[in-house]
Amino acid sequence: MTTESLTRDVRALLRDRHAILLAHNYQRPEVQDAADLTGDSLGLSQAAARTDARVIVFCGVHFMAESAAILSPDKTVLLPRMDAGCPMADMITADDVRRIRDELPGVPVVTYVNSSAEVKAESDVCCTSANAVKVTRAVGAPRVYLAPDQNLAQWVARHTDQEVLYWKGFCPTHHRLRAEQVLEVKARFPGAPFVAHPECRPEVIDLADAVRSTSGMIDYCKALDADTVIVGTEEGVLHRLRKDSPAKQFVLAYPDFVCPNMKLTALEDVLEALERGDHVVTVPESTRVRAKAALDRMLQAGRD
Ligand code: SF4
Repeated sequence: MTTESLTRDVRALLRDRHAILLAHNYQRPEVQDAADLTGDSLGLSQAAARTDARVIVFCGVHFMAESAAILSPDKTVLLPRMDAGCPMADMITADDVRRIRDELPGVPVVTYVNSSAEVKAESDVCCTSANAVKVTRAVGAPRVYLAPDQNLAQWVARHTDQEVLYWKGFCPTHHRLRAEQVLEVKARFPGAPFVAHPECRPEVIDLADAVRSTSGMIDYCKALDADTVIVGTEEGVLHRLRKDSPAKQFVLAYPDFVCPNMKLTALEDVLEALERGDHVVTVPESTRVRAKAALDRMLQAGRD
């Protein structure tokens, strides 16, 4: 089947099932093109919650589908590939967070949305890579604990006077990038600005002209007055960057900047999930309510 006919069949089934198709910025180009919405994980879940779709098909990884289920308990959430997980989210469990709380009484736990629903439920407040600094400051405590990403935590620590303790998790895809690789690309493209994701190591952040979430990066690159931009995040985002700015050249900070989990979902998987209505992701109600409270506190902190 060609991509065109697959896309046609997917779109027809989406209409038939009153479903909305979401694709994270790191998904394969043809999946992004077939989707109703592309974007960051939480932004997509929030946007989907505002629609009257009965079904959400989330092309991303497991924790993202859980976030959609947390925000849309009245909708059915499908994850076309149930084996699409996030190694960073898997680096911390709810038991780990309970242990942190026991060992550090009174220290608020700020949890990155790249985490399981159970971990969110044990947290005081959630954050995204875009609002982590603002949320941490808003928590107001002199000591805070960030989980699970050590690099995001160290990025936050640079921008607050609070003491930031953190879990030693990391995104294998972003953590793999080293300063030498960035310096090599910079030497090949002299003068090209380098925009990095806060999941990158501090040594990489030191070399960046700007540090942005994926959606922030899209806005930043669109507005940037430059012929070439060096991109420090997963290669899927290049599809959108090139669409937005066809005249600009986008170069990855290292050639295989790829999250294998984000590349698992093919249009065939989307079609199959829609046909069968299986691969449903659910979150137990007691967990959902507590995880939603942590997300709501994040939204409140982001507003203040
Ligand atoms: S890019 Fe990193 S944080 Fe995102 S899903 Fe892949 S492993 Fe997880």
